[in-house]
This record gives sequence, C-alpha cells and structure tokens, in this order.
Amino acid sequence: MLSNRRDFLKNSALLGVAAIAPAAVLGEEFIAKPPQPSATVPPPVDTYTVSMGHIRPSPVTPRQIVIPDVEGWKVLKGDFHMHTLFSDGSVMPTDRVVEAVSNGLDVISITDHIEYRPFFSKGGRWKLTDEQAKDFNLWYNIARPEAEKRNLLLVRGTEITKSTMPPGHFNALFADDNNPIAAAVDDWREMLQTSVDHGAFLLWNHPGWEAPKSGGIEKGAPLRFTDTHDEIYKKGWMHGIEVFNGRQYYPVVSDWCNERDLAIFANSDIHPSEYDQYGIQNPLRPITLVLAKERSVESVREAFFAKRTIAWAANILWGNQKWLTALFKASVNIKTITPGTLELTNTSSLPVVVSMGGSAVDLPKDKRCQVFRSNSVKNITVSNWIAGMNKPLEVPLILSAV
Ligand SMILES: [Zn+2]
Ligand SMILES: [Zn+2]
Repeated sequence: MLSNRRDFLKNSALLGVAAIAPAAVLGEEFIAKPPQPSATVPPPVDTYTVSMGHIRPSPVTPRQIVIPDVEGWKVLKGDFHMHTLFSDGSVMPTDRVVEAVSNGLDVISITDHIEYRPFFSKGGRWKLTDEQAKDFNLWYNIARPEAEKRNLLLVRGTEITKSTMPPGHFNALFADDNNPIAAAVDDWREMLQTSVDHGAFLLWNHPGWEAPKSGGIEKGAPLRFTDTHDEIYKKGWMHGIEVFNGRQYYPVVSDWCNERDLAIFANSDIHPSEYDQYGIQNPLRPITLVLAKERSVESVREAFFAKRTIAWAANILWGNQKWLTALFKASVNIKTITPGTLELTNTSSLPVVVSMGGSAVDLPKDKRCQVFRSNSVKNITVSNWIAGMNKPLEVPLILSAV
C-alpha cells in the first residue's frame, strides 16, 4: 500500500516525538501514543513514499553546441555507433537517448552487434523470449518512444561483426529492417548485400581494430585497404569509414575517403555509460557533423549518401576540403585591421586553431583574436582541421578593405 507524502510526514512526526521524549523528563501526559486509526490519522502503512526534494540535483542543462548553417545546410550533431545491453554494452537503449540529449546531439544510432550478444539474448546471461531473441530491431524499438519524447532523431542500426579483418566490422544504418541482415549471418557478403537491398548505408568501422587473437590486425601494423575491402567498395557495400572510433584515430582514412568519395565519421562505439567513458558533456567526445537539408532522419540519410559529413573529436576535425572550407567560412568572421593584422572571431563551438605564417592562435568562441600575417602568406592554415593525411586545411585569404 502506498501512502501519500502528507501521511508519511504525519506518521514520521508522531514516531519522532516518541523517540526523543523520555517519560521521566516530559511527564506522563507528553508521552506520545502510537498512532491510532481514526478519521484524521491513517493507520500505519508498510510502504512509504519519501520526498528527496531537498537533495535532488537541478536538471542537467543540455550541452549547447552552436554551429551556424553552412551554405544553407543545417549542421546536425550525431553519433552513429553505440552499444547497449542488447549486445555487450552496459546500459539500456533509453539511456543512450538521455545521454545523447544531455550531450547536445541531434541524432544517434544504436548499433548492437548481430553476432555477439552476451547479455540480453537467447544464449546470453539474461534470456529473452524466443520472439524477442530473434528480433534485431529490439534496441531501436525500445529507444524510439523515448527519442520521440525528447525530440532526438533515431536511426535504425546494427553492427555486422565478423571475427576476422578483412572484412572486420560494418554498421548497417537506415535499413528498413535489421532481421533479414541477421538471417544471413553465415555469409558476410550476403549480409552486406542484404543491408543494401534494405536501404542501408554501410559504414566500415574502426579499420585499425587491433586484436590479432580475435581477428583484428597486429598492434602497430599499417592500416590497409585490402583487396577484400576493394571488392566491398566496388560492389557498393561501403559508403563511409570511421576516421575516429572511441579514443583512437586513423590518419590514413582521410585519404581513403577523399580518393573514393566516402563519407567520414567520428563515433564513440560506446559500451559503458557516457559517464564512465568520457565524463559528463565532454567537449572532446567524438561527434559526426551532418550537413542536412533539415532536422529529420530522412535528411540525415540523404546527407550520408551525398557524403556531407565531417568528423569531430578530441579538438580535431576531419573532412574533405570542400565541406571544411564551407564550415570555416560560416563559422569564422575575418576583419582586416591592417594589411599585416587580421581580427578573427569564431562564432561557433568548434575548436579552431589558425596561423598565417606566424605562430598558431587558438580562437575560443566569440572572442575577438588578432592574428598576424606574414606578407607573402595567401592562406589561413587551420592546423586542427584535417583535409587529408598530414594535410591541415588551407583557406584562401580574401582581404577586406582596411
Ligand atoms: Zn566493432
Ligand atoms: Zn561497435
């Protein structure tokens, strides 16, 4: 039986008086009697509702990530690689939604493994019904009402997890149904083809996955776009690659994406809670920026296939020359003070470090910074925005009149 808060306080007050009022001090008439059933005092109950009001933390304000529109595109913040208890992660799908909103993200995909489900599954630690165990859309369906309630875009996803590299691991994003992909589990080529047949965007995950005993590459071995990956690419089974995964990045992926016109990603591949992995609202946390027509799942999908993505993690951005340049122009205002001195203002939350022949200058959000330019220098070098392997972004400098 549940009591309401007023009953609880009334009962507590009566019991409290009895506890602190010894008869010898207060006299017989002050000894509190146990509460008696009456019209005004309810009988004791065995369940109380306790108000935690005075110690409840104030609601968390979502992280504000400000990025201006880029050539008419909205810049959405996303993470397209996450795990939950429905494979080998430690939280529920609904928790991923709450964490993402707190981190200021617009869109996520929960991509639980098809082949590896040690927790909730048929053969896992906690059994699902037969019906649930064969449903590889379960994490998406559980998270969806929460995402709708909190206005977060949710993309259906799953991770095709082969134990050898090649082919390694691939996320199938935006499939209309994950179950046919899972049904083809014995043949990875069929899994990739089935994904494409069901409308999926296929992302090659963590190409530097180092785990020689469980199929990954040797530690320190060069990353290779193997013949198998070439076959995958040519068959139309690869649309993007992670340049950053979790806490690792793979510089050569910038070139692979440029050479083959693939979309670039920075994803968390998070397994523990966000709190355990990165801490609360960590500004270094990986995020994939999506240049989308509008804030909708369909627009994110269109942007992926058009390769309008930029990867952002650990104070670095990776992307192709075109979209990084457009993002820089939208984010940083440039004013000529003298021919040798420019005033730069970064209006975005993005980390920006620039130089023009001199030393590098950090541009914190909304702070006007003077940057000195050597006479012969015609470009702004954005040293933490990477347009190719060992290739920081160069933006042609157009000087305004002094
Ligand atoms: Zn993986
Ligand atoms: Zn993963």
